[in-house]
Amino acid sequence: MFAIEARKLGYRVHTFSPESDTPTGQIADIETSAAYDDLLAVRTFAQSVDVVTFEFENVPASAVDAAAEFVDVFPRGEILHTTQHRLREKLFLSKNGFPVTPFRHITSLDELENGVSELGRPCVLKTAGFGYDGKGQAKIESDTNLTGAFAGLNGADAVLEAFVPFSKEVSVVCARDQSGNFVNYGVIENQHANHILDISFAPAIVSHDVFAEAVEIARSIAETLDYVGTLCVEFFLTSDDRLLVNELAPRPHNSGHLTFDACVTSQFEQQLRAVCGLPLGSTEFYRPAAMANLLGDIWQTGEPDWAAALSTKNTKLHLYGKLEPRIGRKMGHLTAMADSNEAAASLAAEARRRL
Ligand code: AMP
Repeated sequence: MFAIEARKLGYRVHTFSPESDTPTGQIADIETSAAYDDLLAVRTFAQSVDVVTFEFENVPASAVDAAAEFVDVFPRGEILHTTQHRLREKLFLSKNGFPVTPFRHITSLDELENGVSELGRPCVLKTAGFGYDGKGQAKIESDTNLTGAFAGLNGADAVLEAFVPFSKEVSVVCARDQSGNFVNYGVIENQHANHILDISFAPAIVSHDVFAEAVEIARSIAETLDYVGTLCVEFFLTSDDRLLVNELAPRPHNSGHLTFDACVTSQFEQQLRAVCGLPLGSTEFYRPAAMANLLGDIWQTGEPDWAAALSTKNTKLHLYGKLEPRIGRKMGHLTAMADSNEAAASLAAEARRRL
């Protein structure tokens, strides 16, 4: 989606990833397929472009540093280093006074036992690196055996978090340019199924104060990081209206996909504008909107009935061109627009049911 926006503005795109025929590669002018730790390939790539950005945060810091020898990389490698590791991210947030759920660093069974007695059950054990969509996560319930839970980490560093009995999950997708200008898409409400984002809609159903506070926290995080590009801040909202930052995504985010159809400037175009030194665009929504994710699961009974979903009014279909529809894999999404956020959410869900 970033490459589509770049092509719309007349840019040529060169993509680098370990795979070939990727969704971006299908749209880019040039697709380099090489491992991220193939630093010769990274340096050759970096010398062929004017600026580098990423839309996947698990790129090793060594690759970003190698690219940065030749060309600007936005967001900066240091931000990637912080946000690709839950412990570093949580330490950054708590040190700078941003609200997070209490957490402990876990490297041994002893630390896990102490952490669980301090934070109480239930709590959530997460590997520190390479986690998304609930991968590398285990909930510690009243009867969970800690030896087994620790063994499940397979020696990986972990973070133990107090469980948040949240009333809802929301996010702020925002962008900051090279001069420090900031724009945002307000607060988006997110519903998950099996730890994977299922439906997002905008605007979120939250109080005026919560809305303003969430946007201010996102602005302040972007400023503290001296961020350039599109950033998503994911929050838990408790029943007494307290916001806790769950995690940061240093890139366009799934909850902002609806901006592609519903806003004057999409989150992908903002990323492009920010990294290319252009002014940021308007984040105005044409109408309240919702997005329903399409996972590989829906192929289980054969090819989905695309025509049925496309016949739903005010609904747009996006398929990413991923070759293999695996269970739990994000293959595309539907965006729906309506007179209210709730109507848009039911329209998106209805279009998906019709598939
Ligand atoms: P994450 O990969 O950390 O975003 O976690 C995926 C999802 O798991 C979140 O969106 C929540 O629905 C749930 N989750 C993660 N951490 C917690 C927590 N500390 N308390 C309650 N639910 C959580």
